[in-house]
Amino acid sequence: MWFILTSSDIIKSVSIFNDKKKTVQDIHDEGYCNYCGACKLVCPEDAIVYQGGEIHVNSKCILCEKCLEICSQNHQDGYNSSLIQRHNNSKIKHYNNNMKYVPFGEFRDIFNCETLKSAVKETSMVGGVTLSILSTAFDIGLIDTAIVADFEKKDAFPSGVIVKTEKQLLKTGGSKYLPTLSLEKLEEILTDDNIESVGITTLPCQAYVLAKMRENPNTAKYTSKIKLVLTLLCGSGLPSREDVKKYLKKKGVPESLTELSANRRKNKRFWRLNPQDQQRYIYTSKKGKEYDFSSRVILATKSRQNCRRLCPDYSGFYSDISIGGSGLKSNIVIVRTQTGEKVFQESLGRKSIKRRKFTRWNYFLVNFMGKNKRKQVRDSYKEVFLS
Ligand SMILES: Cc1cc2nc3c(=O)[nH]c(=O)nc-3n(C[C@H](O)[C@H](O)[C@H](O)COP(=O)(O)OP(=O)(O)OC[C@H]3O[C@@H](n4cnc5c(N)ncnc54)[C@H](O)[C@@H]3O)c2cc1C
Ligand code: SF4
Ligand code: SF4
Ligand code: SF4
Repeated sequence: MWFILTSSDIIKSVSIFNDKKKTVQDIHDEGYCNYCGACKLVCPEDAIVYQGGEIHVNSKCILCEKCLEICSQNHQDGYNSSLIQRHNNSKIKHYNNNMKYVPFGEFRDIFNCETLKSAVKETSMVGGVTLSILSTAFDIGLIDTAIVADFEKKDAFPSGVIVKTEKQLLKTGGSKYLPTLSLEKLEEILTDDNIESVGITTLPCQAYVLAKMRENPNTAKYTSKIKLVLTLLCGSGLPSREDVKKYLKKKGVPESLTELSANRRKNKRFWRLNPQDQQRYIYTSKKGKEYDFSSRVILATKSRQNCRRLCPDYSGFYSDISIGGSGLKSNIVIVRTQTGEKVFQESLGRKSIKRRKFTRWNYFLVNFMGKNKRKQVRDSYKEVFLS
């Protein structure tokens, strides 16, 4: 039996944010951070530094709590349906007003699609619909810029990248199952007078921050140029334990280290930043042997393990279009807003993508994954309040 988690349960389960002594440093150190990049963007004192794949709050912090307020893991508003309605600017069709959980959120239509563009097929990991829709958005003048994600450096973690042409866009194809911090790019977007309209690819947590930002007069400016939000469905920010082990083995990491707590601040004796490269760490074993790790390895061993525990949104409620995988070479596409519908129809009309029927299997997949994710939040709640 599935348990229905109400919005007030979610508010309780994030009591971490009600504890005034908490900072985003704690959110990070306790593994709840998903590296959305919002806190650094809004900090008025420049007190947040991303270094070696981690978040550090330095002594400039004046405890104003602006970062905590915007943090994508702060669901004090309970993921409320009115915020979803205002974002989607549409009639409630599929979202239950009693806050009973419907994993699809609100939407206008839902499909199973794939790209028809051969250049996109070469670079995309799944069906290529994300790149194709962004490309259409450029073509019809809906956007002149996009924020997507890419590896700027080999072995580093991916970051948000700003692209202005289809050629640049195509280079960024494929899913990056790692933190991107892409929202920090909004500052650059805001201050660049040559940029007027932006499309962005996000995870559900980042789309939620954008919706929160729009509501707050102090942060609305960051979203003023955003015209299209494409959200990738997300069951978990982290690769599975088995995937991590395989990755570490490939990188030559001794098996004994893979279970190690990678909290560098608490294990200063063992971990230090590589002085030659601030994206790498040096680990010194008890026997004095040194290992040089990229921050990608560090992230794989520890960070983001807990982000899904506070995250009730699988399908990206706050996007214009949500896109997931429905097979090796096709995408589930959930069209939510008027803007989303326009660019989706244009993509079909221009033969950039083709659509198939949304099958029972697709429905089962989204429903199962979405409810399972919500169940994790319920379990965290139980752990915090009932144990
Ligand atoms: C962390 C994570 C978890 C996911 N979990 C699921 C899941 O449980 N179920 C499911 O159905 N789908 C999941 N997806 C989505 C799926 O893997 C594909 O990303 C999605 O179907 C889009 O495929 P596509 O072929 O259209 O992408 P493409 O056409 O290749 O385009 C992807 C675009 O998104 C950008 N991008 C890639 N990674 C990120 C990122 N992390 N943040 C922001 N932008 C990014 C790329 O730069 C590119 O522009 C997940 C994706 C991620 C990143
Ligand atoms: S509490 Fe305020 S000053 Fe401190 S890190 Fe957060 S936003 Fe910056
Ligand atoms: S989840 Fe986002 S806002 Fe919260 S601490 Fe992490 S990067 Fe900052
Ligand atoms: S599980 Fe939730 S919080 Fe973690 S990366 Fe995915 S959408 Fe973001």
